[in-house]
Amino acid sequence: MQDDLDWSDPATILAHDPRFSEGAVVPPLYQTSLFTFASYDQMRQTFAGRTGQPVYSRVGNPTTAVFEDKLARLEGAEAARGFASGMAAISGAVLSQVRSGDRVVCVRHVYPDAYRFFEVLLPRMGVTVDYVDGRDVVAMERALAGARVLYLESPTSWVFEVQEIARLSAIARREGAVTIIDNSWASPIFQRPLQHGADLVVHSASKYLSGHSDTVAGVVAGSAELIGNLNRIVLPYLGAKLAPFEAWLLVRGMRTLELRMRAHERSSITVATSLRRHPRVVRVLHPTLDGSVDGVQLTGSSGLFSLELDGSVDVVRFCDALRLFKLGVSWGGHESLVMPAAVVHEQAAAGPNSAIDFGVSPRTVRLHVGLEATQDLIDDLTRALAGATA
Ligand SMILES: *Cc1c(COP(=O)(O)O)cnc(C)c1O
Repeated sequence: MQDDLDWSDPATILAHDPRFSEGAVVPPLYQTSLFTFASYDQMRQTFAGRTGQPVYSRVGNPTTAVFEDKLARLEGAEAARGFASGMAAISGAVLSQVRSGDRVVCVRHVYPDAYRFFEVLLPRMGVTVDYVDGRDVVAMERALAGARVLYLESPTSWVFEVQEIARLSAIARREGAVTIIDNSWASPIFQRPLQHGADLVVHSASKYLSGHSDTVAGVVAGSAELIGNLNRIVLPYLGAKLAPFEAWLLVRGMRTLELRMRAHERSSITVATSLRRHPRVVRVLHPTLDGSVDGVQLTGSSGLFSLELDGSVDVVRFCDALRLFKLGVSWGGHESLVMPAAVVHEQAAAGPNSAIDFGVSPRTVRLHVGLEATQDLIDDLTRALAGATA
């Protein structure tokens, strides 16, 4: 390890891999399920936890460890743990904290599968969840009395509501609750929640950390104690491990994380500003344009934002007329995407976490601004809006 390097700098963290001394500039892919021992004694010492040598890839693998180390450094965490998906990271983080009789306080309008996990699986285990408007500190304080976990997602990924991490996590700590936050939208380049008092950060690494839409993965970062807890009581038994190849892809993708995030930010602000001026656009929900990027908690915007089209635009024709923006879920890759709320409205009933209940109009579309030329994206949107207007 080169100790003279500045490991607080994201560029250094992303470019270098201190773990490997053989001179390989890219860490090798340890595509192996098990690791052998040179002697009985070495095996015994390893089982006793004295060598740090890997044993079996469900529990630990050097390639996944490179990814975990980088992510921990980026988030300013003591430790991190990779998972097979963002949902495995979310369910693992929550399950490492709750037991029967506990209560979780969750912000409204979280990622839909996180909500389904809270609603479908947790009640079977005797854990209940209350949903509160994360911007209402008084309501949050009331709900947090006696709670075990505070679950945040800031900003949320359709309506971009921001929560005050420092204030809410301080209240949670006073009440003896652990704060978990989904940081997928901002990435550690634009938001580092542990510095503001959160206890565990979760990511869908399938999004910006990967950056190339070729991986489904997740990660949890936090103190050595909390991650140790996760390693002890959740990961080995639920078994949702991060595969070595996926970790290798993540390390590769993350080399350009900071560059990509700055490019997504620049382009999305330009596209959103142009859309806000468009006569057929009723409103644009974008954290920079909304003033949510305060330079303290949130220092930038990624490429994902929403807009609402006026009644003269046929949403179906608009989506079908786009060429660079492809219809698709997820986000965080190189490509631009459009996701119409109308599809969600058609399929889902009104419910406490649904787009309908949350007042997301069927005239809303969510855009992911990818890495294509900004002007080409604006031209694509402008042309599609013109073609879809009555
Ligand atoms: C995609 C997503 C998840 C789930 O991650 P997977 O990797 O798809 O399991 C969680 N939170 C947010 C905000 C997401 O966008």
